[in-house]
Amino acid sequence: MSIQHELDFHIHYGDPEVTGSLVVGTKEFDEAFFYDGDDLGVTYTADRLFFRLWAPTAGEAVVVLYRSWDDEVAGLELPMTRAEKGTWTLDVEGDFGGWFYTYRVKIGDGWNEAADPYAKAVGVNGKRGAILDLRTTDPAGWAADTKPPMRAAVDAIIYEVHVRDFSIHPESGMKHKGKYLAFCEKGTRGPEGIYTGIDHLVDLGVTHVQLLPVNDYFYGSVDETKPNEQYNWGYDPQNYNVPEGSYAADPYQPDSRIRELKGLVQALHSRGIRVIQDVVYNHLYDGYRANLAQLVPGYYFRYRSDGTLSNGSHCGNETASEHLMMRKFIIDSVVYWAREFHMDGFRFDLMGLHDVSLMQEIRRRLDEIDPSILITGEGWVMDSALAPEERANQLHAGRMPRVAQFNDRLRNALKGDTFDKASRGFVNGGWYLEHEIKTGACGSIPYNEYTFGFPLQPDQTVNYAECHDNFTLWDKLSLVGGGESEDILRASHRLASAIVLTSQGIPLLHAGQEFMRTKQGVENSYKSPDEINRLDWQRCADRKHDVWYMKELIALRKAHPAFRMTTTEEIRSHLRFEDAPGGCVAYTLRDHAGGDPFEHLYVLYHANRGTDDLPLPQLGEWEVLFGSEHVRRMDGRLQVEGIGMVVLGVSKRS
Ligand code: CA
Repeated sequence: MSIQHELDFHIHYGDPEVTGSLVVGTKEFDEAFFYDGDDLGVTYTADRLFFRLWAPTAGEAVVVLYRSWDDEVAGLELPMTRAEKGTWTLDVEGDFGGWFYTYRVKIGDGWNEAADPYAKAVGVNGKRGAILDLRTTDPAGWAADTKPPMRAAVDAIIYEVHVRDFSIHPESGMKHKGKYLAFCEKGTRGPEGIYTGIDHLVDLGVTHVQLLPVNDYFYGSVDETKPNEQYNWGYDPQNYNVPEGSYAADPYQPDSRIRELKGLVQALHSRGIRVIQDVVYNHLYDGYRANLAQLVPGYYFRYRSDGTLSNGSHCGNETASEHLMMRKFIIDSVVYWAREFHMDGFRFDLMGLHDVSLMQEIRRRLDEIDPSILITGEGWVMDSALAPEERANQLHAGRMPRVAQFNDRLRNALKGDTFDKASRGFVNGGWYLEHEIKTGACGSIPYNEYTFGFPLQPDQTVNYAECHDNFTLWDKLSLVGGGESEDILRASHRLASAIVLTSQGIPLLHAGQEFMRTKQGVENSYKSPDEINRLDWQRCADRKHDVWYMKELIALRKAHPAFRMTTTEEIRSHLRFEDAPGGCVAYTLRDHAGGDPFEHLYVLYHANRGTDDLPLPQLGEWEVLFGSEHVRRMDGRLQVEGIGMVVLGVSKRS
């Protein structure tokens, strides 16, 4: 999401005399000016400041120091000295804690002023960097914070939520509505005494919370001085290394947002839940005004041959991850969030616009910190100025081990094509989708010559029925079902969630999916009001039985490693598809699959409203583990009725 400005900016590519006639964005330029140091930005101590800025095309560079976030007149303007590899440095004596700063660079015959892209703290609305000691932003006990244990990526059960949506409902029972701090509140209760907030997450049993962007986003989307007047998902990044201010208790105090986001991570960790951050490095809120564009015009973005901005993101621009300093910027930023904020995972927005080698390097760098840190991304095959073979998308999963990608094929098979409003899925009467569901159930891995998707290993697929984008599952089913009964819609919804939570791979739930979240039919709610976006805790209370169903599904997945096999080889040897009529998908997970306590499991996805009679493989004495409400008879054959999932088990050979 972004604001598309008029092309009223003249791009200066700098003075050829400054860059030795090297052209911005070429290989030769990168070879001459790639700076690999770790001191970009400002280094603060109580008696000294050190700045390093990368701006090879600037003729002059100045640090501008302000006493406050809104002073119109600079307190000091200090010229920087040209240093190695296109960088500029400045050493200042004195204690500048509490001051703010920007850079001013002379590009051609004009001057640009911008916030430091490497700033780790900012003033309100992020227009200036803030100078502080990061150690003062650590909440009490931060040094002792540890990640909850995790065996394998496929053990993750991800819950995607927006910071504001989580608590802003009047019945949320949380005090710090719309803020990071709401995640730190314990014992909160909603209508009829239901669990809300973090207690709800713990009760549900999810292992990871995935936050929609929490890095600072565009002040034009949400003005941090009036955080309740606008709403935005936040997919229009402004300062990459600083938390968003509108979720902070005090956006004017630069330390508030940092300490409170750390507090959120700490609170979730203390309750056994890990945190994934949604990162949007593929574009900025504006390809001309953004700080990167101001400081080194023409470098950080991709351009078409006619000089206009490449726009694979459909947000006006796309960053050039193949340019060495953009690549370094992304890697430095991810590593910073992992180390400073103890983030446990990263979800790359429009990852298909990044290049494969960037994602490989990020995997390598995160492994150095902790190999259990998850990497997921949207690997859509998209149009871009980047060479097709370099794109980090589904076609190249084989070159990106342990990077998971969103599985749109399973999503569409479940509920119908996202972009075709009339299209039906397996759970709501779509035809000939059994094979698609089988493909999803086995993790979309290369199961045999007919059944395969993009992943080579099960930890490369994120399985989901809904996320923040597009209609919620409930809205999609209601829309397509026009006039369908509540019971049928509910059964279809439950079956979709059941398939997501029993398929091989990494399941992701959209917050509120457990109570059949509706956005009142709004398809793209990125700036819709709270009334559309918020988690409706009243609905959560009204649909206790659906929440309970989701809880049971999660418990089922956790109790059975058969649903969480870690390798393709394992899935091929333990999962076998069984005979089933149309509208049904049946398979067994045999011989203690994945180390399961049960010898065999039989799983049936039943999308038919009526009754079906299925042969049961003769593997022993079957007992019903899940979905008994659908079982009519079991005597060597299985008779089931109604839309839903049934799981049977054989505990030992009879
Ligand atoms: Ca902001």
